[in-house]
Amino acid sequence: TWGRVCDELQKSVGKNNFLTWIAPLKVIEVEDGIAAFEAPTKFMRDWVQRNFSEAIQNELRKFGIIVERIDLRVSTAPMIRPANSANPVAQATTVSNSPRIASIKPRLAQTQDDDLPGAPLDQRFTFDTFVVGKPNELAHAAARRVAEGGVVTFNPLFLYGGVGLGKTHLMHAIAHELQTKRPDLRVLYLSAEQFMYRFVQALRERQIMDFKEMFRSVDVLMVDDVQFIAGKDSTQEEFFHTFNALVDQGKQIVISADRAPGEIKELEERIKSRLQCGLVVDLHPTDYELRLGILQTKTENYRLQYPGLMIADGVLEFLAHRISTNVRVLEGALTRLFAFASLVGREITLDLAQECLTDILRTSDRKVTIEEIQRKVAEHYNVRLADMIGPKRVRTIARPRQVAMYLSKQLTTRSLPDIGRRFGGRDHTTIMHGIRKIEELKGDDRQLAEDIDLLRRLLEN
Ligand code: ADP
Ligand code: MG
Repeated sequence: TWGRVCDELQKSVGKNNFLTWIAPLKVIEVEDGIAAFEAPTKFMRDWVQRNFSEAIQNELRKFGIIVERIDLRVSTAPMIRPANSANPVAQATTVSNSPRIASIKPRLAQTQDDDLPGAPLDQRFTFDTFVVGKPNELAHAAARRVAEGGVVTFNPLFLYGGVGLGKTHLMHAIAHELQTKRPDLRVLYLSAEQFMYRFVQALRERQIMDFKEMFRSVDVLMVDDVQFIAGKDSTQEEFFHTFNALVDQGKQIVISADRAPGEIKELEERIKSRLQCGLVVDLHPTDYELRLGILQTKTENYRLQYPGLMIADGVLEFLAHRISTNVRVLEGALTRLFAFASLVGREITLDLAQECLTDILRTSDRKVTIEEIQRKVAEHYNVRLADMIGPKRVRTIARPRQVAMYLSKQLTTRSLPDIGRRFGGRDHTTIMHGIRKIEELKGDDRQLAEDIDLLRRLLEN
């Protein structure tokens, strides 16, 4: 029922509110007139409690579930791993990819070609919105080439890489581009899962000839997440035949997977070797520059959507540093930040970001400690470590101390009062003043900006 209650809630509170505040909630239990939910952060818990518990209660009532109150707890779930470690999906899930909201993905266009059973294309996934950096430039260039719709030069194009690095985005971009450039071509995009589903359906309805004919009649076939059919024998078999038939006719094929062909277990050898025949390119984990580029691009769009919203210097840099490699998580963070700032009418500052994104930041904590920062900064400026926390106010000591305060704020999740305590019991306003000072100076003082960059890199490795 929660799924259906959610559909209703979305109408009553609006989609943005719903996605930002309600979708991340987890239902715990409904008992003794209390509906208990888990929220990912304390901050979200309070916010939902204050602003949405009535709406939730009302919608529950429509489904015959009468509760006296809504009880919200902070999720005590174990820390989620960073995206580049063993379980990348877990992290993506917390932000914007929960199955509950998957069904309301915005702005989906209809199938590419009316009589082809393809998946809908996301209007936002175009080449225009794809930010190119070192980690994805090869994949991007190859996708561009395929999207020209000219002579087939490599077949298949095999794109692989971890979750949220842009595989699906690139495939949709190819489809969009071909639609405008070469409307005469029949382009079919679908996931390997959908391929299997169609295949099984065709078997069941005894329409396998139609199925074969349809798949063999396309000019460009794109199959996303092909690792899905590993171990599914008859689907693999059919995929193999489709693949060969198309290649023989000189039709373009684009495949994506979460790993290289050779590393997909339970995929038949002959399929692996065919997949390796074309061009195999990987999307590398994002680097700082790419993440910053993506954040800047998305921020420009948000500025149009939320005119008048201010965003303080350094916030995007902070997010690019602190949020792992997964672009989906990065986007989710930004969406939440803008939604929240516009709701409460506040400027987006580092503090606001930390307050509203604790759950995401925690997962990608690089665990730099304030002590380490103080030590490195003292070393760099050749001052004594004791002076970092001591009372001396001469410029030659005060400035490095402020740099250390600034880095402590940027590189750790500590609050200002907490940082103050570690700087010899200083007040949080002193810390804030120090951070502001550095932010101010660093704009004109190249040397200072370089020092900070260097220190940051040293501390992070
Ligand atoms: P994958 O299919 O590799 O798991 P997606 O293509 O679904 O990843 O990308 C996840 C999200 O990140 C999408 O919203 C996508 O638009 C965005 N994204 C990924 N890479 C980029 C990029 N280079 N520029 C802009 N957005 C990106
Ligand atoms: Mg994908």
